[in-house]
Amino acid sequence: MSKIMVTRSSMPPKEEYMAEISSMWENHWLTNMGDKHKQLQESLLSRLEVDNIELLTNGHMALELVLQAMDLSGEVITTPYTFISTTHSIVRNNLKPVFCDIDPDDYTIDAEKIEKLITPRTSAILPVHVYGNICNIGAIKAIADKYGLKVIYDAAHAFDEKVDGIGVGNFGDASCFSFHATKVFNTIEGGAVSYKDEEIGNKLYQLKNFGIEDAETITGIGANAKMNEFCAAMGICNLRHLDGEKLKRKNAFDRYTERLDGIKGIRLNKLKPNVEYNYAYFPIIVDPKEFGMDRNQIQKKLADRDIFSRKYFYPISSACDCYKDTYDVNETPIAYEMSQKVLTLPLYADLDLDTVDLICDIITGDT
Ligand SMILES: *Cc1c(COP(=O)(O)O)cnc(C)c1O
Repeated sequence: MSKIMVTRSSMPPKEEYMAEISSMWENHWLTNMGDKHKQLQESLLSRLEVDNIELLTNGHMALELVLQAMDLSGEVITTPYTFISTTHSIVRNNLKPVFCDIDPDDYTIDAEKIEKLITPRTSAILPVHVYGNICNIGAIKAIADKYGLKVIYDAAHAFDEKVDGIGVGNFGDASCFSFHATKVFNTIEGGAVSYKDEEIGNKLYQLKNFGIEDAETITGIGANAKMNEFCAAMGICNLRHLDGEKLKRKNAFDRYTERLDGIKGIRLNKLKPNVEYNYAYFPIIVDPKEFGMDRNQIQKKLADRDIFSRKYFYPISSACDCYKDTYDVNETPIAYEMSQKVLTLPLYADLDLDTVDLICDIITGDT
């Protein structure tokens, strides 16, 4: 058997991609907001049912530039239970992350713990929809409205999801998506921001292109974060196959659930009936006392069979070398505990059910 990685990038048929990019050999327009960029932007507007969206080179630049576009200062309340990009995007804007603990049931920021972290310096909240679990958007909005704070969602895990029929990109002031090769929908590398205020869109457009207003007017201290035409073309193709890919993910996801639900010492991610999921990840929380093995031992057992899982998220941001001297992991004990117990199992569209069964057999000791 060949190696089973934790994820495997979705790709369109080769001929389809070749056909999509062939026009570039006629117009020689490779980047700087060409036809493919325009077409993908329009497709995403309708697919995600959002009013505005800006495409970028990756999800990290989406976060970094939207924070810059909002001209924030001081402190940003966020979660340490995330991919390090979230935290870096705050720090790289000379803002201070203030870590709030998470809800043990869905791993997203615990909205009840936000208010006591607010100080006169707080300017925004940056929550993350972890594993596609949607944050407590109602409570977060109430707090943000009360204190006049901006809300920027890291929606990298929640692409194409809906809550009560509403596209996830419609919540907060902005939502940031990642189209990295390993995500449910990819443009090889890529990202986007959906946003409410058109002024934010103007700034984002400018900031992703060096702060250039026009050829002779540079008004912003921008970066270079333009999505190129080859990446946009990959997105156009992948979007056509998204429903099929999601369905295949769901089948694998359901099989895992069937096999692992109810096993003592293993807790699965609880899905909510009002959310349309994208089936991006399959995390398990392993209680070593009850299960008789910790997650590191499970990871090793799988790796011995050439099956690769991931401790995701571990370490939490506040435990990383670059932040551990500034923060104390014990300030967010639940996030810390989850990071010690979580293991994310392989999940991608082409993962066949026999392999899911094998993974479950290895975990439960049946092989
Ligand atoms: C993937 C990811 C990012 C970063 O996106 P890139 O496209 O890889 O730059 C940020 N936050 C979270 C939660 C992610 O999963």
